[in-house]
Amino acid sequence: MFTWFRNVGQTVGSLTASLYITLRYFVQTYRRRPFTKSFEYPEQPVPVKPRYRGFHRFDLTACIGCDKCARACPVDCIYIEKEKAVAPAKGFVVTGFAIDYTKCMFCSLCVDPCPADCIFMGSTYDISGYTRDGCIVDFAKLPLTVAWGQDTLNPTAVMESKRVSLPVWTKAV
Ligand code: SF4
Ligand code: SF4
Repeated sequence: MFTWFRNVGQTVGSLTASLYITLRYFVQTYRRRPFTKSFEYPEQPVPVKPRYRGFHRFDLTACIGCDKCARACPVDCIYIEKEKAVAPAKGFVVTGFAIDYTKCMFCSLCVDPCPADCIFMGSTYDISGYTRDGCIVDFAKLPLTVAWGQDTLNPTAVMESKRVSLPVWTKAV
């Protein structure tokens, strides 16, 4: 008998709690201002949290072409092209660093293994394009300010980078 009363009490308690939550959010929808009142997007960028995982920021001048980021990527969407550096310089010259954003899931697993701290998740969220080809971004061909996240990674910058055959900025030897 006691168990029966306890079960009824728990059921009534959880039902009341869930109805209270539903009611609270129902009332909030009437109090909340529309999104366009809070943010004047696209005229003004929408603020993002510091740990937001947007399109990458990449520094070609620091990259040593070690492939660790590409190996860590669970969907294999980082494509690195490199050449042996001309002596007396050592290591590699990275000539291409493309990320296929039709596959990338913004998991950030490519960031942690980087020994040179040259790839990060950026705060850009508003890239769009008319073709799938426009979703493949070669960071080695972008202007430094765009690749490093100081300028918008917009479709125009991406299309312009596809006309460039050599890296627009390389590590000084
Ligand atoms: S964020 Fe994840 S899916 Fe995207 S390139 Fe990095 S490791 Fe790959
Ligand atoms: S892990 Fe870092 S240094 Fe190595 S290839 Fe990737 S971005 Fe370059």
